[in-house]
Amino acid sequence: MGGLSPATREAGFAALPHADLDLLVVGGGITGAGIARDAALRGLSVALVEAVDFAAGTSSRSSKLIHGGVRYLQQGDVALVREAASERAVLRRLAPHLTQPILMVMPTYGRATQMKLQAGLWAFDKIASVGRDERHEMWDRAAALREVPSLAPDRLFGAAVFVEYLTDDARLVLATVRGAADAGAICVNHAEVTAIDGGRVTICDAFGERSVQASARVVVNAGGPWVDQVRQRAGTRGTQRLQLTKGIHLVVDHARLPIAHSVVMTARDKRSVFAIPRDGITYLGTTDTLSPSPELHPGVTRDDADYLLEAANRTFAGRPLERADVLGAWAGLRPLLAEEGKAPSEISRKDEIMTDPSGLVSIAGGKLTTYRKMARRIVDLVCEKLGKRDLRSRSRDVPLPGGEPGSVADAAALAARLPALGREGAERLWRLHGSGCDALLARIAADPRAGEPIPGLPGVLRAEIEHALDAELALTLEDVLERRTRALLFDRRQGLDGVEAVAAIAADRLGWNAARTAAEIDGYRRLADGLRSFR
Ligand code: FAD
Repeated sequence: MGGLSPATREAGFAALPHADLDLLVVGGGITGAGIARDAALRGLSVALVEAVDFAAGTSSRSSKLIHGGVRYLQQGDVALVREAASERAVLRRLAPHLTQPILMVMPTYGRATQMKLQAGLWAFDKIASVGRDERHEMWDRAAALREVPSLAPDRLFGAAVFVEYLTDDARLVLATVRGAADAGAICVNHAEVTAIDGGRVTICDAFGERSVQASARVVVNAGGPWVDQVRQRAGTRGTQRLQLTKGIHLVVDHARLPIAHSVVMTARDKRSVFAIPRDGITYLGTTDTLSPSPELHPGVTRDDADYLLEAANRTFAGRPLERADVLGAWAGLRPLLAEEGKAPSEISRKDEIMTDPSGLVSIAGGKLTTYRKMARRIVDLVCEKLGKRDLRSRSRDVPLPGGEPGSVADAAALAARLPALGREGAERLWRLHGSGCDALLARIAADPRAGEPIPGLPGVLRAEIEHALDAELALTLEDVLERRTRALLFDRRQGLDGVEAVAAIAADRLGWNAARTAAEIDGYRRLADGLRSFR
């Protein structure tokens, strides 16, 4: 079929009841998307079914880092360091736009720590085979204050500096889903799996009041925080395997925390947390607290917020940050495997595959960083079950959509083609779309109106919204503003000033009536307000 659009979704729903599927994947986060892509690239017949929107769960709420694995060295796990480092290099090759190298500055407050970090990072560079231009540096106090003038100078000794990659989690998922669809997978969003009976799966359309049944030889549950719920829907009783922990992020104006590099901060319980600059804002993250049950939009408490604000206020000089400075926030749930008696931050992040007596294969745990390898392992298992062990994974060789060569090589080239965007706007668009910017340029060439900015959404062109609706399967305002453009997270006004203009374009393209349009606007406003009102 190829591509993602309302038409491919319709065709998907029409095809599902008759499709001869090898594999049906439940859940379109990074895990499910990775599995669907790997399997489709091997030539299996695949469907990917997502209850809300691609990346609507944890995979749009991460810290957005593709880790090199420094933190795993701190835990003494050399194998994990190697895996994270090699996966990071693969991802950079497959999707350069979604893997932006950034400096991570870790301030130090004494000679002993500086020496210890120097030894650790030296070992990391060796173990992870870090290239010459990305090796660590040690800064003395003067260099640290020159590079990050907002650091609190008292007690500062220097800084250890290493390279991490910044990604866009929801766009990484979308690119992976597109890759799956281009390789032949049926991909539908807003389609919930409500029952699983062996290989027979019932799927309900969130909009159309219809439900269809599909059959697959293997069903894989990649439900993230909902893994246990999906297992119950397949008849598994009384065996809760997940332990969810919540992580929040806060957004402040870049002018309130003006940093050019990411900075590691130490929280009140000695955990490492980050401040990361991006698109005119700085975001702080993250927390790690137990959470009883899965929720689509977990709330942010005052204590969550204070935990991060305190860490920032200890690390940086200037007027202390307060809750009133917070422009936006997001929270996600880590789908971890329960480990009795462990504190939230001690629970392992490793992934585990579980097979229930019904035959349902479930996967939980893991990271964005290592998703491709995790997906490959699952599809190896699926191939074994299908008796197709000779089908080899191709996921490390085929670029992700947006990662192929295009007519614009980078953000600078895009800025030259679209001067109205300015350098910052071009950077932003390039990082979200990569060579997919060609499709936006083609739209603008066909209709100059598409090159106009959306009123109230600085740096966002009409073409970007039209493309999200026509070619990225965005079906609600939340899909467009939270996960396609990321305005809910990174716009200083959470996208609220552009919501009516975007709703008008969506209404026109998706055929919404006045009532649906008003409900979408109202729902989006409530979502944005809810994320800023600490409980
Ligand atoms: P999800 O993304 O939650 O996907 C599961 C999907 O299943 C959801 O979209 C849901 O709607 C769907 N679903 C559920 N039930 C059904 C059903 N019945 N029918 C159909 N669909 C269904 N990793 C990193 O590598 N780097 C980081 O910087 C990083 N930071 C993090 C920060 C935080 C705060 C958190 C919480 C995690 C972070 N992680 C990070 C980890 C990473 O984000 C997760 O491991 C990953 O996103 C989990 O993806 P998933 O696909 O398993 O789950």
